[in-house]
Amino acid sequence: MKKLVLILSLLTFCAFQAQGWGRLGHATIAEIAQRHLTPAARANIENYTHGTPLAEYASWMDEVVATPPYKESLAGWHASICTPDCRSPLYIRRLRRGCKDTVSGLDMMREMLKDYREMPDSMVLEAIKCIVHMVGDFHCPAHVRFTDEVNELKYPVVFFGKEVLLHHVWDTGLIQRASGLTYPDYKEFADRLDTWTRRQQRRVARGWAREWFEDCARDVRPYIRTIPEGAELGQEFVDKHIALAELELRKAAYQLAKALNTIFG
Ligand SMILES: [Zn+2]
Repeated sequence: MKKLVLILSLLTFCAFQAQGWGRLGHATIAEIAQRHLTPAARANIENYTHGTPLAEYASWMDEVVATPPYKESLAGWHASICTPDCRSPLYIRRLRRGCKDTVSGLDMMREMLKDYREMPDSMVLEAIKCIVHMVGDFHCPAHVRFTDEVNELKYPVVFFGKEVLLHHVWDTGLIQRASGLTYPDYKEFADRLDTWTRRQQRRVARGWAREWFEDCARDVRPYIRTIPEGAELGQEFVDKHIALAELELRKAAYQLAKALNTIFG
């Protein structure tokens, strides 16, 4: 019963305002991860998803914010925080976010799901949806918070002639513009990105949530404060930044596969 309450309270906090990757990015991460599940993990997960692709659950955490049970509980399960030298120890996450962050969230999920076979199916399914989303959010550059830099990028820029928040450019605009794809074309995008060797996949999936987030933070740190408010961004911006976005999508995908294989394999 105690475990049930913990899961419920965690899921209540799963609603939040910021999106992370848009639907294309999250679904692509989930699709690639699904292709790299072990047979055991695939079978155990399908007991709860009944064949629904993980990609279709990948933005659930962003969608529930509009539903009454989640409206009241704005918490930070979509981002995490680290020091300027990209370390994210527990005390920093506790001090700055009350442990409501993607790294702590994935740690909690792993712990709670140790006995997932004894939990109600609906709760395990919601936990799967949270894991699929949170590992993606680790790697969205606009979701990496630093103790000296909020890096939320919620200020306007002009992206191909249209005024949008820079946050939205990172979440959606950049990868859509570079790939020429939109949701639901995630399978095609996954085909293009799922090209790393087994060795590369294993290397990026070493460790667990904190290592994965810190790795992303090191990738993102050189890019903070480089785009001023009102900047006009076009093809030059896309050419310069798409490599980072695609790198993070790939890392997220192979780490998500590791997370699901560890918990359900
Ligand atoms: Zn999110």
